[in-house]
Amino acid sequence: MQLSTTVCALATPPGEGGIAVIRVSGPDAYAIVEKVFVPIHQNKKVADAKGYTALFGHFVLRGQTMDETVALFYRAPHSYTGEDVIELSVHGGTVMADSLLEALYLAGAVPAAPGEFTRRALVNGRISLTQAEAVMEIISAGGRQGAALASAALDGALAKKIAGIQATLQSLYAHLAAWIDYPEEDVPELLPDELTMTLEEAKGELDKLIAGYGAGAILRHGVDCVLCGRPNVGKSTLLNLLAGFERAIVTPVAGTTRDVVEQAVMLGDVRLNLFDTAGVRDVGEKGDAIEAEGIRRSWKKLDEAGLVLAVFDADAGLGPDDLSVAEKCQGRPAIAILNKQDLVADDDRLRTMEETLAPYFKKVLCLSAKDSASLPKLSAAVSDLLGTGQVDTGAAALCSARQLRAATAARDALAQAIRSQQEEGLGPDAAGVCMADALAALAELTGEDATEATIDEVFSTFCVGK
Ligand code: GDP
Repeated sequence: MQLSTTVCALATPPGEGGIAVIRVSGPDAYAIVEKVFVPIHQNKKVADAKGYTALFGHFVLRGQTMDETVALFYRAPHSYTGEDVIELSVHGGTVMADSLLEALYLAGAVPAAPGEFTRRALVNGRISLTQAEAVMEIISAGGRQGAALASAALDGALAKKIAGIQATLQSLYAHLAAWIDYPEEDVPELLPDELTMTLEEAKGELDKLIAGYGAGAILRHGVDCVLCGRPNVGKSTLLNLLAGFERAIVTPVAGTTRDVVEQAVMLGDVRLNLFDTAGVRDVGEKGDAIEAEGIRRSWKKLDEAGLVLAVFDADAGLGPDDLSVAEKCQGRPAIAILNKQDLVADDDRLRTMEETLAPYFKKVLCLSAKDSASLPKLSAAVSDLLGTGQVDTGAAALCSARQLRAATAARDALAQAIRSQQEEGLGPDAAGVCMADALAALAELTGEDATEATIDEVFSTFCVGK
């Protein structure tokens, strides 16, 4: 990336839409836009436009007047990238946006690489690496809670939290180093208890961040969810309830759901990426080959799922097929749904079935998939199981696999430092070595010491125009 160039790209999604916004950023932004944009008032000039102002006019491609255009001006350093930036809005659809990009290229701008605007903001010191990651998370967030989490990261909640831990460790490390390196000086002794207590506190903060990662990631990206159960128990009916319309074909004949149906639905704050299954039952050698393939795929999905909803027919009762489904769910993040509750008048019968299923599942719910009143019940159970109900969306949170990796490395180094003092009986210099490792991992997390490869990793997932 060369900061001396001026880049441009479409900032809105490609395709049909009311408007398309093209962003231009770099030292020649004003000079380049001057060549392609003609303000409606002849006495107005792009070169004179102040930051945070707008001009109306049209753009020109190869001498030909094109679409009406609104130009929004930002002056360095008060812009997203920290450079001179102009955002040009034209009518939506791709034709005008493509023509404007062509005009900008002819005038000397170059196409922006994916994430280049945000990368420039990072290089120009406008945002930190964790904030850059937050930008990406906001763009791709699957729900309001997930977006709120990412937005807290953009405000720098994580950066502040990490900075606090770094400051504590750094001052402890400095004290330790002074005490070890200058025994003849009057450095106050560092009591072993004091040392481990501070290390425990810092480790505890990191433990909390690491523990919250899973639920936060689910709020941002949703969870892969498998619906399983033998034919006719009501999986399609449940899917329709979740989706709010007739998605799967519901019939009273066994085995109609043949393939893995993919669909995303919101259940409370959690996006479920749903995989309906072909009806999980053993198919003998004479079994239907297509259905067997569907079943194989269903089980594979079950291995990868972050949430399993296993459906059982309370009216029909539990048979051997049901128990084999239950067995496959053991140890997984699985909820048993005893469906068709409306058909069962005998509460004791329901309770016995619940007790039979309980050992295999994290939760057992009795409900009726035909009744929309079942949704809040299911939603509460899911948010409880996944821990998403406890997430404080305003608090510091790790928001990428990269951050999780760095935080875990720092936490592990601190755990080693504590062990060296408490179990291994080593001197404080051993703790010092581990603390240096922890500090290095934290610097990697915040991006202070991020290598070019780390920055490339962060920006590899960005889209063009951001
Ligand atoms: P699948 O094969 O597991 O997808 O099962 P379906 O969703 O096709 O449902 C099988 C039959 O059970 C259909 O006739 C549904 O209308 C019926 N059914 C599903 N859920 C309920 C329920 O909660 N109560 C009642 N009474 N019938 C249900």
